[in-house]
Amino acid sequence: MKRSLAQLDGARLDGQRALVRVDFNVPVKDGLVTDDTRLLAALPTIRYLREKGARVVLLSHFGRPKGGPDPKYSLKPVIRPLEALLGSPVAFIDDPAGDAAVAATRRMTRGALALAENTRFYLGEETNDPELARRLALLGDFYVNDAFGSAHRAHASTEGVAHLLKPAVSGFLMEKELQYLGAAIANPKRPFVAVLGGAKVSGKIDLIQALLPKVDAILIGGAMACTFFRAMGLETGRSLVEEDRVALAKELLEVAGEKLVLPKGGVIAPELREGVTTMTVPRDKIPAGWAVFDIDPATGLDFQKRIVAAGTVLWNGPMGVFETPPFDSGTRAIARALAEASASGAVTIVGGGDSAAAVAQAGLADRMSHVSTGGGASLEFLEGKVLPGVAALDDA
Ligand code: ADP
Ligand code: MG
Repeated sequence: MKRSLAQLDGARLDGQRALVRVDFNVPVKDGLVTDDTRLLAALPTIRYLREKGARVVLLSHFGRPKGGPDPKYSLKPVIRPLEALLGSPVAFIDDPAGDAAVAATRRMTRGALALAENTRFYLGEETNDPELARRLALLGDFYVNDAFGSAHRAHASTEGVAHLLKPAVSGFLMEKELQYLGAAIANPKRPFVAVLGGAKVSGKIDLIQALLPKVDAILIGGAMACTFFRAMGLETGRSLVEEDRVALAKELLEVAGEKLVLPKGGVIAPELREGVTTMTVPRDKIPAGWAVFDIDPATGLDFQKRIVAAGTVLWNGPMGVFETPPFDSGTRAIARALAEASASGAVTIVGGGDSAAAVAQAGLADRMSHVSTGGGASLEFLEGKVLPGVAALDDA
């Protein structure tokens, strides 16, 4: 485990400058933050630091600016919502790599807050330039990484600075992510059931391979199932199939045996359109010219039964095109099953941006044990890869 903020002596944080890497890569439209989930997720760490009298300097990336400062990718739209959530003013640091920034952080009073401009305005952020990391490290007396969603990238503000500014610890959000995802992989309550869906097998092959020896079952839905159907020699019509992964799917089916559970059938339509005519067919009756856009109700029931009986459930990837009703039914059924499993004591974990969105859309986010804030990062972690932003933190 990594050393966490909770493990630092609270009394010694008084007056110290905490340099906190957060993930404020929030959706913004016309200068307004349209979803403040990521701001809310960072509050426990920020509040705790302020309570202890620390001076809090926040660092984040935002969007993908190309090679320099670009007003379109400024973090300024975050200032007001953050002030509203915390009930105090937030100072803005325009040039966090400049000398004036260091002076500004030294002038901050106990409990004060400052937000630094987008770290990706510097080319050195993504190249993990040691000089940029050194400049950023001057903004704090110790380092807290609460940006789990960025931890799979070795950037100056996530990895470089953690080597230079000590102590370097995990914030509360990061700690929670590592605890839930780590325990699921290392020490799951059984039966351990993974539910995988989404569009492509290709993005999730490493995950399937990493999970197979650890889980009791992997339930497959989404378009991903169609690549497996093809590997079983079934007609898949116009469904999304990755032809170049069919051979690999065949291998996985052989290795996995009973552990890999595929849908019994699907909800199909001639095209993807809201309110389109649909049919429910068994998987060996998919007509040419039609495509599978959701799991069928029989599969929904089968998956629900297995999920409710599990001790740990890990879900990544929607069961169908949940953005287009009625193809959201299968995904909603899975979300309800996870909620039911949590209620009866199972550990339920949702990873992946679209799956998290689906759970939120169903109004069930707070009935999961943990909804991961890190899409790519949670995938890499569950695949067993080392996350550089985590590795660079102090060991507990
Ligand atoms: P996550 O973000 O949770 O990891 P993915 O990005 O892997 O999930 O997959 C989500 C996408 O998969 C959604 O946009 C959804 O519409 C799509 N999808 C799921 N099932 C199907 C299907 N049967 N046909 C086409 N697209 C699908
Ligand atoms: Mg996605």
